[in-house]
Formats: sequence, structure tokens, C-alpha cells
Amino acid sequence: MRYFIGNWKMFGVPKSIYILNKINSFHTRDKNRNKYRVIITPPYTLIETFAKNFNSKKVLIGAQNCYQKNQFSSDTSAISPFMLKSVGAKFTLVGHSDNRAEGDTNEILKSKVTFALKNNLKVVFCIGENKKEKKNNKTLVVLNKQISKVLNKKFHRNKIIVAYEPIWSIGTGKIPKKNELKKTIIHIKKILKKILKKSPPVLYGGSVDNNNIREFKEIKEIDGFLIGGASKNPKKFIDIIRNYYR
Ligand code: PEP
Repeated sequence: MRYFIGNWKMFGVPKSIYILNKINSFHTRDKNRNKYRVIITPPYTLIETFAKNFNSKKVLIGAQNCYQKNQFSSDTSAISPFMLKSVGAKFTLVGHSDNRAEGDTNEILKSKVTFALKNNLKVVFCIGENKKEKKNNKTLVVLNKQISKVLNKKFHRNKIIVAYEPIWSIGTGKIPKKNELKKTIIHIKKILKKILKKSPPVLYGGSVDNNNIREFKEIKEIDGFLIGGASKNPKKFIDIIRNYYR
């Protein structure tokens, strides 16, 4: 099974549902539809209406983040996994570099994963090195730490997807060299296998578009893609899927 996840970030109003309609009607007619799953993570404000309209179809709705507590608390502006589940989210991203940059530590991320799973949300756990770490050849060490400080053997691998997103690639148009990326994905799967017995799916994210997808598809170890910028445009997002299977 492959995954195409669209992370809308701070984008979208109720009428943006037309984007999901287009993706859904493409999916319904696509002869490859049983080979992949589409997940869209809109902002919190749109989860409930989008989930009501699409969770019974093939486009699943997730959140971009969740708070590190279970149900209710006195933390202003926080949204818990329980609240997300109650409005129809099926997934949540955890550990996106935007949120790590805002202060999400490994300890916080561990609580987020724990409470998300407890509330039956599947977790898309994001990891990735920054430019300096890459330059200093620290990529594998950094990824190792990010994974082993947060994931543990009590977490069920069927409920987790890992997204490798090098920070220097997000929104920049820069992508990793093919051989390097392949090696990194294999390394990530090895670490995950040690912790979870078998590796969960590992996705790539960072400047994926409808052209460079042709390069990524040659790396069979990549189980899917986390797509930011290009996911807000239905034609680009659909063309990524089309070109992947072409
Ligand atoms: C992201 O923010 O998760 C992402 C992958 O963004 P982009 O595709 O725009 O690089």
C-alpha cells in the first residue's frame, strides 16, 4: 500500500472542499486506486466538515498536530487527540519540523504519540535533519535519535507511519540525491525494525511535485509521500499520483 498525504498547513476555508471533491472523483475512477490511500490534513477549522463529507469515501482526513494531553485541560488554544477523534480525524501528524521549531521536544512528541494512539488516531511521525546537520554528515545520527527517543516497542506498528522530511528540502525546491535518499530510507527502516519488530511504512516529504515524482518513484523503498505546497492545487496533487503510476 502506498500513501499520498496532503499537508495543507495554514491554508483553506470551507469552500476549499472543492479540492477534495476533485481528488475524490479522480480516485473513484483511477484504475490504480486500490494501490494507494489519500489522506488530507487540513487546518483544525475544517476537519469536522471535511471528515463528514469524505471519511466514508476514500479520502481520509487527518490533523496536522495534536496536543500532548489526552482529553480536556486548561491549556488555551490546545486541541487534544480525543477532540480530533470526536470530529472525525483518522490520523494526526506528529513532529512536523514546523512544530519542532516551535518547541516540540522528544518528550512532548512521545506524549503526543501516546495519546494519539490511545484515542485511535493513526500517527504520521515526521523526522528529518536540518541543513547544518546534513553538511556535518550527521543525518543518520540525528534520525536515529529522533526515532529512538520517541517511538518504543509498546506502540503498534500498524498505527504508525513515518515521514522522512529533510528540513532543508521543505518548501525549497531542493531534493535529496537519489542514492543518498535510498540509503537513508533503508537506514530508517532498519532502526524502526529494531524497535517495532517490523518497519511501518516510511514516506518521503520535501518539495515533492508532479515532475520530480518520476525520480522518487524509482526508489521502491519509499512507501509514499507527504506533500505540502503541491497538495493545495488539485491538478498538481492528482498529477503526482498519475505520474507515480505511469
Ligand atoms: C511539508 O511541509 O510537510 C512539506 C513536505 O512541504 P513541501 O512539499 O511544500 O516541501
